[in-house]
Formats: sequence, structure tokens, C-alpha cells
Amino acid sequence: MLEKVLIANRGEIALRVLRACREMGIKTVAVHSTADRELMHVRLSDESVCIGPPKSTDSYLNVPALISAMELTNADAVHPGYGFLSENADFAEQVEQCGFIFIGPTPETIRAMGDKVSAIEVMRKAGVPTVPGSDGPLGDNDKENLALAEKIGYPVMIKAAAGGGGRGMRVVPNAEELLKSIQITRTEAKSYFGSDVVYLEKFLGNPRHVEIQVIGDGRGNAICLGDRDCSMQRRHQKVVEEAPAPGIDPEARKKVHAASIKACQDLKYRGAGTLEFLYEDGEFFFIEMNTRLQVEHPVTERVTGIDIVREQLRIAAGMDLSVKQEEIEIIGHAIECRINAEHPETFMPSPGKVKLFHSPGGNGIRVDSHLYSGYTVPPYYDSLIAKLISFGPNRDVAIGRMQNALEEMLVDGILTNIPLQSRIMRDPGFRKGGANIHYLEKMLKQH
Ligand code: ADP
Repeated sequence: MLEKVLIANRGEIALRVLRACREMGIKTVAVHSTADRELMHVRLSDESVCIGPPKSTDSYLNVPALISAMELTNADAVHPGYGFLSENADFAEQVEQCGFIFIGPTPETIRAMGDKVSAIEVMRKAGVPTVPGSDGPLGDNDKENLALAEKIGYPVMIKAAAGGGGRGMRVVPNAEELLKSIQITRTEAKSYFGSDVVYLEKFLGNPRHVEIQVIGDGRGNAICLGDRDCSMQRRHQKVVEEAPAPGIDPEARKKVHAASIKACQDLKYRGAGTLEFLYEDGEFFFIEMNTRLQVEHPVTERVTGIDIVREQLRIAAGMDLSVKQEEIEIIGHAIECRINAEHPETFMPSPGKVKLFHSPGGNGIRVDSHLYSGYTVPPYYDSLIAKLISFGPNRDVAIGRMQNALEEMLVDGILTNIPLQSRIMRDPGFRKGGANIHYLEKMLKQH
């Protein structure tokens, strides 16, 4: 097993990883910026290293500082959490070149999946359904591009191969706008991501966001832990997630699960990963793969009984997957509400001192949070302060338990989106299940 893991992250996910390490008898090193000395996991870790000033480019994204911290503390592996350097192939490469273990896929895999054109190509070869489109980068021939868009049918989308975070994509309603849109997206992509490679996809009007959790051992064995629905989004940010995705066509599900496993076997995928799909009219369309742990992994853990972080740590130590595909059973239903420090209506961030924190509980409730009474939420980072996860034998029970938990939870001193989450849980459209990615924003407009 690993002896000492450095956790290159902060907040709830750093605490989540620390808990898994401690359970497994692995020593932990916390790294933190000067603004994060009071983080819960820093207090609980065996050792801690301050890696720089508050600004994340100077601390959590500071590769030399992280590598020095690993050397200084004699850690053998680094867990990147999500965000920050978790999908940075250069970081993974430097970690390995310095003789440490990167808890995640190989740098080559991260790089291949980070380029959406190459990711789509890998998936298509493995039989994973993709969005009809250019099957590769768009060339410079205007006539060919117009003919292609015509064949696929408007509206289409132009997307940057290196895009991410919802940037570098553009919807094109008709032929008149196509060439100009390709040009603009290229220019933007070049300046944001350093590459002007773009591709074309059919624009789906009312899809759901359904994603598939996979884990591979890096030697060609892979398992699928089922799917999650993350359609409740605002500005492409997930707000509520659930597992399994409700009301999915069973045949389409079976096929896409099998194809996702095949893709991971072909890639000799190492570690945890997520294939993201748009789901419309009973069909799945792959859009991208995230080569890391997701924020919403607990809903999958709850319905499968598998600890995904534990699997990541085992795989990094060269061990086998702890379960076989035949042993995986999806039981019941789990929902996650992301609790953010923000105004529930204007969404303005609301950092500050938490005077009182009371965590909810009861049957089927899990709370992943680094909050405690007296903790000050700093203004420099993501506003996620807690994840509430509810579980029940079915979706209705899980929703009922979530409603209780939201009512019980107390965060005094700062504003949170708890009122918004309660409103979503009461909303008839959400309760019905299977709402699409535009639903929440429409709901927010009706007041
Ligand atoms: P990013 O890496 O920036 O998150 P994605 O490719 O995952 O980019 O797309 C982000 C979001 O954009 C999707 O969740 C979906 O809402 C929308 N989107 C992407 N591709 C399409 C498409 N072909 N049709 C409709 N919506 C799309």
C-alpha cells in the first residue's frame, strides 16, 4: 500500500481524500495557501506545508511548490482531487518524472482525453455513441464546411478541441453564420487555450446530462459503476446530481455501459473517470471524458456501496480493482445537493465567518463538508462549502430525506443556496424526474 499521500487540493474534497487515507492507514500531507491555514483537513493531517499566497496560481496551481512539498515530506503519491491540477497532463508527467505516483490516469491518457477531438475518436472506435459531427478537426475549406453543416442539419455547434469550463463553443443557427462562427471560435480558442483546432457537432435542443462512472486498473481491466443525471445546471454548473439517472431506456443504458467499459479496456485506463453524455430521445451522445474524481462521486458510492477514493488509492499502489463487474449492483436512489456560499437568488458569492454550523443527519444522509462553527470561508476559491447526499430505497424517499436535511442544516453568518435547493426539491418538474439541462434556468426565471 501507499505510505504517505500528499493531497493537492483544499476544502471538502481534501477532507474526503484525507478520510479515505486515514481509514486505510496511509499517512497524509496537507498543503494549503496562507488563506487556508484553518481548513479542517489541515488540522487532521499528519503533516502540513504552506505552499504560497491565497491566489491559486501561486499556491494550489504552483507545480514547483507542490513537488518541493512532496520531496520535503517524503510523500510517495499525490492525490489532485478535482479542479486545480487534476486534469493537467504536464503536472502528472512532472510528478512521475520526479519519482512520485500521480493518483490518476497516465499523462498520455489525460492529454488524449483533454483534446476533445482525440477523445471522441477513441470513443467512437470503442463503439461509444458520439454526437453526429465533423469526425475530426474542421479544415479551412469553406465549401466543405458548409456542405458538412448542411448534411448534419442546423443548428450546429462549433467547439474548441482544447475547450473546457463551458468556454470555446458557439451555436450556429444557419448557413449564413457558419463561416464567421468558425473564425470567431478559432480566434477565441487560440487565445484561451493556445490551439485554434475546432470541430463541428450537431446541436441538441433539449438534452439531459447523463454521465457514466468508470474505474480501470491501468492493465486493461475496467468496471462501470452506473450512471448519474446532472441535468440540474445553472450556467453549465451542476447544482443537483443523482444516481441512477431516472427514466433511461434500459437497452440504450446497457449498450452505453458496455461500450464505456470497452473504451476503458482499450485505453488501459488507470483510475477513476467519467464519460459525459448528452441524452436525448432515448439516445446517448458522448461529449467528453473527465479523467479525475468528480464532485458528485458520492451518489454513485451510495448506490453501489463502492468507495471510489479507496479504489483510486488501491490502483495507485498497483493493486487490483476490489470488485468485478458482475458483483456491482445498483441499489436504491441517491441525490446530491451542492451547498454553496452564495446569495440564493443573485448567486453573488458570500464568503465570511460561519458563526454556527449545524450538520443534518438521520437515516440515509451523508454530509461531505469542511465547515465548522467559527470557520471563515475565504473569498478566493470556489464557493462549494458542503455536499448533502441523501439515499433511499427509491427516488421519492431520497427526495423526502433531502428535504429534511436541508431544513435541519444551519449555516449562520454567511448566505447559502439552501433555500434554492429546497425549492428544487419541492418543484414538480424536478420531482417528476428526467428534466433537461435547460430546466433549472427556466425555473429560476419564473418567480
Ligand atoms: P466543457 O468541457 O467546456 O464543459 P462540454 O463539451 O462538456 O464542454 O459541453 C458543456 C455543455 O455544453 C454541455 O453540458 C451541454 O450543456 C452543452 N453542449 C455541449 N455540446 C453540445 C451539443 N452538441 N448540443 C447541445 N448542447 C451541447
